[in-house]
Amino acid sequence: MDTEIAARLKLPTLEKGWVWLVGAGPGDPGLITALGLQALTQADYILYDALVDETLLTLSKGEKIYAGKRAGVRSCKQDEISDLLVRLARDGNRVLRLKGGDPFVFGRGGEEAQALARAGVNFRIVPGITAGIGGLAYAGIPVTHRDTNHAVTFITGHGADGKLTRLDWAAVSRGAPTLVFYMARKFADEISRALQAAGRDANEPAAIVANAARPDQQVIITTLGGLSAAAETVPALAIIVIGENVRLADELSWLAKISA
Ligand code: SAH
Repeated sequence: MDTEIAARLKLPTLEKGWVWLVGAGPGDPGLITALGLQALTQADYILYDALVDETLLTLSKGEKIYAGKRAGVRSCKQDEISDLLVRLARDGNRVLRLKGGDPFVFGRGGEEAQALARAGVNFRIVPGITAGIGGLAYAGIPVTHRDTNHAVTFITGHGADGKLTRLDWAAVSRGAPTLVFYMARKFADEISRALQAAGRDANEPAAIVANAARPDQQVIITTLGGLSAAAETVPALAIIVIGENVRLADELSWLAKISA
């Protein structure tokens, strides 16, 4: 971080013995916050997860430790990550915990912050741009829009047991016109059926934004009824959005236009 900019923004310093829990944004490294950049340049240790853009890591002289979870790949247990954060901070290090998107949105940031709070370690939360908002923006889909939806529901498709989250689908389908699903690609078929059974229209617009805000971003515009077939064609890292606001992508898909 440029020191003059940091001073003008009155950015706090990542002090020894502190942990900053920082959101890196959904992909494009430019989407990290100024506080996130400040932490990158000051940290002694960075514990990062699988979704963090590697370019960001190259900005730091700190020691990088992979502390992510990936299905089928050797991954760290949540308790081990929390313990390591506590230990590194107690040893007097400046510690950055860098997570994809926003640390408090389906990212277990709350659990890590609880571990720090309980251990008496000083911490700061630096929010990030979550995939369910920023990823949609990169697809030209406003997450809310006056003409289409005054509310939005964020849902994780994946429960702690690896199965589709147990939800009251009738309530979900009536709760908000726009539904945004994380970790849901492999459940697209079940989600689509459950929502239709609960009364949502098969012709309602839906989109899958895969690898959002990354160079290989893919946007598939479909319908609630077409979700299942569409999901089979895209990479696993994907956001599913269902609702009339999806139609705005027609006019607003700015990224596709500049990269065409
Ligand atoms: N804390 C993160 C979410 C972590 S859960 C955030 O706020 O964005 C992981 C899920 O987030 C993925 O399964 C996917 O549904 C979504 N996700 C994260 N980054 C994404 C990206 N670049 N493109 C599409 N989906 C993404």
